[in-house]
Amino acid sequence: MAFRTEEIITYKSIVICDDCKKETELCESAYPIGFDNRMNRALAAGYTFKDTGKQFKNYCKDCRTTRE
Ligand SMILES: [Zn+2]
Repeated sequence: MAFRTEEIITYKSIVICDDCKKETELCESAYPIGFDNRMNRALAAGYTFKDTGKQFKNYCKDCRTTRE
């Protein structure tokens, strides 16, 4: 009888609102997802991005309306 034990590591990607700090889980994956993937999933989760000139900020659904 042969046995093998594997440790499965998953990475959880979470977007954090730059205003209220609310966290939303985007996905769990075997490898950390890239920048584009993070952006797309955050957008799909209702987050929005703002380029402040020197920094990129992201805001959740609730904070977005107060900033538009
Ligand atoms: Zn927020």
